[in-house]
Amino acid sequence: MSGPFPINFLRFGWIDAADVLLVTVLLYQLYKLLRGSVALNVALGLISLYLLYLVVKATGMELLTKILGQFMSVGVLASIILFQQEIRRFLLNVGKATALERMRGWSWRRPSEEAPVAVGPFVEAAKSLSNKLTGALICFSQVSDLSTFADSGDRLDAEVSKRLLLSIFNKTSPLHDGAVIITGGRIRAARCILPVSENPDVPAALGLRHRAAIGLSEITDAVVLVVSEETGAMSLVRHGVVYRNLPTAELRARLNEWLLSGLATGSARMADQPSAI
Ligand code: ATP
Ligand code: MG
Repeated sequence: MSGPFPINFLRFGWIDAADVLLVTVLLYQLYKLLRGSVALNVALGLISLYLLYLVVKATGMELLTKILGQFMSVGVLASIILFQQEIRRFLLNVGKATALERMRGWSWRRPSEEAPVAVGPFVEAAKSLSNKLTGALICFSQVSDLSTFADSGDRLDAEVSKRLLLSIFNKTSPLHDGAVIITGGRIRAARCILPVSENPDVPAALGLRHRAAIGLSEITDAVVLVVSEETGAMSLVRHGVVYRNLPTAELRARLNEWLLSGLATGSARMADQPSAI
């Protein structure tokens, strides 16, 4: 007796269980890689398009099926082009040198939970740099992986200290140009190049240093601290929004709040009072 849905297709063995488990782990890793960046929205867009394709195919809408089918046939190639950076990061993660590193990379815990950042040295350094009208650009990694940007500069992997930050941004230092990247509570790299924002609403008074901070925060969940060389103003940038000219106490409070809570503060965005854009 066989109906329209043969029940024997549900036979489920150990291999199937392992198959499903592996796909789940892979999908979760993929989500972790894309989380906090615009690439996640692109991926969701592609998945929606694919689901639409399945629906129109099943309902027999021939014209739409053909049009969407053309997209699907170049889907793999298009995905490789669209997700170049993410695929590169994924392969880098998979190929990490030591087993220990691999275990850490594939952990279920978020980086911010592993190593909460002590904001004291950053606030003290920013205050000092501001008094001396010395520019600075410091990016704090949250969930998004900043290694692509760290790779564009000089690797340091150093313990954070006010003195080291002052030395890096000292105008005569060979490392002062570009951004410093902080990951897992350590200074990972200096002299890094960040993507510059193309948002036309950014005030003309803000130059490339601020635009680079905005650019990074638009495509990742990084929090960026900027000290202006021209005015000494200390600003924070997050999710493409600049919080300009912050007094020391507010800088410390916001850094403490944002760096300890990571993505969990996403909903607090509406309550903030951005003073620039
Ligand atoms: P300031 O208020 O300090 O003058 P600004 O926003 O007006 O800052 P610029 O005066 O253009 O910006 O700052 C130039 C400096 O910004 C460069 O010397 C360099 O250190 C840094 N910078 C510029 N573009 C980038 C980039 N894409 N990535 C990282 N750092 C950058
Ligand atoms: Mg300037």
